[in-house]
Amino acid sequence: EARREMKEALRRVREEFGRHYPLYIGGAWVDTGEKLASLNPSAPSEVVGTVAKGGRAEAEAALEAAWKAFRTWKDWPQEDRSRLLLKAAAIMKRRRRELEATLVYEIGKNWIEASAEVAEAIDFLEYYARQALKYKYPSVEVTPYPGEDNESFYIPLGAGVVIAPWNFPIAIFTGMIAGPVAVGNTVVAKPAEDTPVIAAKVFQVFHEAGFPPGVVNLVQGEGREVGAYLVEHPRTRFINFTGSLEVGLWINEAASRLAPGQRWIKRVFLELGGKDAIIVDETADFDLAAEGVIISAYGFQGQKCSAASRLILTEGAYEPVLERVLARAERLVVGPAEENPDLGPVASRAQEEKVLSYIEIGKGEGQLVLGGKRLEGEGYFLAPTVFTEVPPKARIAQEEIFGPVLSVIRVKDFAEALEVANDTVYGLTGGVYSRKREHLERARREFHVGNLYFNRKITGALVGVQPFGGFNLSGTDTKAGGPDYLLHFLQMKTVAERF
Ligand code: NAD
Repeated sequence: EARREMKEALRRVREEFGRHYPLYIGGAWVDTGEKLASLNPSAPSEVVGTVAKGGRAEAEAALEAAWKAFRTWKDWPQEDRSRLLLKAAAIMKRRRRELEATLVYEIGKNWIEASAEVAEAIDFLEYYARQALKYKYPSVEVTPYPGEDNESFYIPLGAGVVIAPWNFPIAIFTGMIAGPVAVGNTVVAKPAEDTPVIAAKVFQVFHEAGFPPGVVNLVQGEGREVGAYLVEHPRTRFINFTGSLEVGLWINEAASRLAPGQRWIKRVFLELGGKDAIIVDETADFDLAAEGVIISAYGFQGQKCSAASRLILTEGAYEPVLERVLARAERLVVGPAEENPDLGPVASRAQEEKVLSYIEIGKGEGQLVLGGKRLEGEGYFLAPTVFTEVPPKARIAQEEIFGPVLSVIRVKDFAEALEVANDTVYGLTGGVYSRKREHLERARREFHVGNLYFNRKITGALVGVQPFGGFNLSGTDTKAGGPDYLLHFLQMKTVAERF
């Protein structure tokens, strides 16, 4: 049944190819003179759709609309704001297959990855809608004091900017908007250039749900132009960013400079890259470990911040795990995403070039034992790639590649495995496969990552179950989908009255 629905949805979305989507500002669909095209990475000659490209004028208008909307949205009863989020979730559920099919064509996810991602977007809406009710006025307990009434409560910040990556263009995009908006803020959202169509569809959902004009605004365009403009704008109150380390660092710096007329310190939230490791020791269930490594390293072609890109094997695990991983990786089917292969294409030409250049670097650093090349076809198809004998300090063991490339590192024991695992600038996710309690306990204390997984096949996070966010240069650790996420977008007001 799901298969039939998906085929039907793919057919319908294909019929829509080439459709144009405007911006969404102050509750109205707004076109501009310029266009941005979205290409199908499985067949880049196909234009999935075009969107209006925004510039400074649109950014300006969107911030204006967001501040105007804030004046009333901040005082809406929390129940009513939450109800709108739940309505958006219900509309996404109704359009689920269409949204999945859009991900398949626009970014090259296979059906399973696409379906998991749309489910996650829905989860974010529902979770934040529920969590927001916790921060209802008056919400904070204070110590009673004689002769006074003291209360502290949370109020929203104002109008902020959401800047999103292409790799989870519906889940992360929706979640980063839904969080701040749930608790009374308003936003201007700037999605990634490679995934503008799914972003426009998210805004169709918001529009249908009936958010008041200006609460959510969509401005598409280049990061370096309109994105940077929004970041540096004096009327931007907060920036909720997920993307690369390089851009995140620039945003952090730019947002800390006071712009003329600016009246606050901008709050900046950054969820950045990872160089995630899975450790397998000699006591592990090797089959389970190999299966988990394959899912983590090659799911969505390794283009996940949570993807394992380093496999650290202790002496006794090295041969049996490597053998199992290679046997499985060899069998992975790579092809057009609409055919639901194990691996679709990488997201864009730029991604393909980046990954291939790291493969060249890797040839000088380790042993290429599998893949290492692009495959036949118009799309950006790369073979699942494995390097062995990779020194822990090699570039392919230190830098985020964001593709289907796994670096295998040999260590003598578990202590060394942990040392190597922690030896990167990042600290997002980590995995450990072991049957030794002592090793797991030690990893729990010493493996310095935001999200750690033991003997578990998937290294991604479930909304509300595993709050997600990384340490070190992986970001400001906002813990998306966690119980305290919404606090980032609130400030506390304290009122004391003498009686
Ligand atoms: P990116 O940094 O290139 O782009 C992200 C967004 O920033 C895009 O919308 C882009 O247009 C915009 N942008 C670019 N330059 C800008 C500037 N100067 N000012 C303002 N905005 C600008 O990242 P990407 O390639 O889209 O995404 C992949 C990266 O995201 C990877 O590093 C991945 O690890 C990371 N990521 C992290 C998480 C997490 O939760 N930690 C989740 C998903 C992705």
